[in-house]
Amino acid sequence: MARIHNFSSGPAALPLAVLEQAQAELLDMSGSGMSVMEMSHRSREFQSILDGAESGIRRLMRIPEDYAVLFLHGGASLQFAMVPMNLRRPGRSADYVDTGSWSRKAIKEGDVTGSVHVAWSGKSEGYSRTPKPGELKLMPDAEYVHICSNETIGGVRWKDFPEVATTLVADISSDILSRTIDVGRFGLLYAGAQKNLGPSGIGLVVIRKDLAQRAPESVPIFFRYSTHIADGSLYNTPNTWGVYLIQRTCAWAESMGGVEALEKINKKKAAMLYAMIDRSGFFRSHVERESRSITNIVWRLPSEALEEKFVAEAKLAGMVGLKGHRSVGGIRASIYNAISQEAVQVLASFMEEFERTNG
Ligand code: PMP
Repeated sequence: MARIHNFSSGPAALPLAVLEQAQAELLDMSGSGMSVMEMSHRSREFQSILDGAESGIRRLMRIPEDYAVLFLHGGASLQFAMVPMNLRRPGRSADYVDTGSWSRKAIKEGDVTGSVHVAWSGKSEGYSRTPKPGELKLMPDAEYVHICSNETIGGVRWKDFPEVATTLVADISSDILSRTIDVGRFGLLYAGAQKNLGPSGIGLVVIRKDLAQRAPESVPIFFRYSTHIADGSLYNTPNTWGVYLIQRTCAWAESMGGVEALEKINKKKAAMLYAMIDRSGFFRSHVERESRSITNIVWRLPSEALEEKFVAEAKLAGMVGLKGHRSVGGIRASIYNAISQEAVQVLASFMEEFERTNG
């Protein structure tokens, strides 16, 4: 069996141990004689998987008791819509910080159902950093402040989260379980699962329970957080396969020592690649050091032709997923929890050799 080094941004590599376990359990899940995909979502067996996924996430992220954990359809993008529908009451506005592509998508969706105020934008500087303390122009009466903790495309991340007087909301799709996050500082956190948790098409929401009561009557029942809290993520048939893989991935993350241990490894992995970028002018990062992502490392080469050559030769060397997002070009290595230090070392050595022969 040849497993490739997969540096894709998402759907992304999952831990081999989780895939092997899923393979072994595919025909007979825990003696049930069926796979999890064939099992009633109302069965005792599935309920215990769902409970296990929730308690795994709760332990790993140290989620306080007054927060609900939800597994919903629609990935992270549905949350771009659900957050303003639920948290922004009629006639009120919300602050959004624009640090790149994913912030912009959240802003665009927020704009559809009400008033959005952009409290800071990195656009004029080519999205090279997060704002410094004092730069945010927050509205005194905003319902919440929305940030994207890590811009998957631009490789920009909030190293320290902003202090705000109102509810802080974050899209943590591309650094969930990669770094420690003090959940108590946020009213709501959400993530698509396909980077660090499991397959695509499922979204995780962590919400302080009192906030779920804010939704106006005009919000359709399905789009209310309160609906899904009341039914324990079983209002309708959930993505049972997704929940199962999240449960198994959480168990794997705990076996690795939890988020603190994984974060240490992730920082080492990122440092290996940034060291390659910083040692010469051949590779260039547009991101300021303080704002550099530890999960999505983005860089450019002297020309697009060299970038194409880099991606093609990397593929021959057993590495895929390195082409930067179509909107920004360049190279991007996504190095979530399932990517080992050894895999990153292979990439770093390849970079060194590529620079030697093409620099
Ligand atoms: N936010 C971020 C930071 C992302 O990286 C992505 C997907 N790459 C999304 C939102 C959208 O996620 P989904 O496709 O699950 O809706």
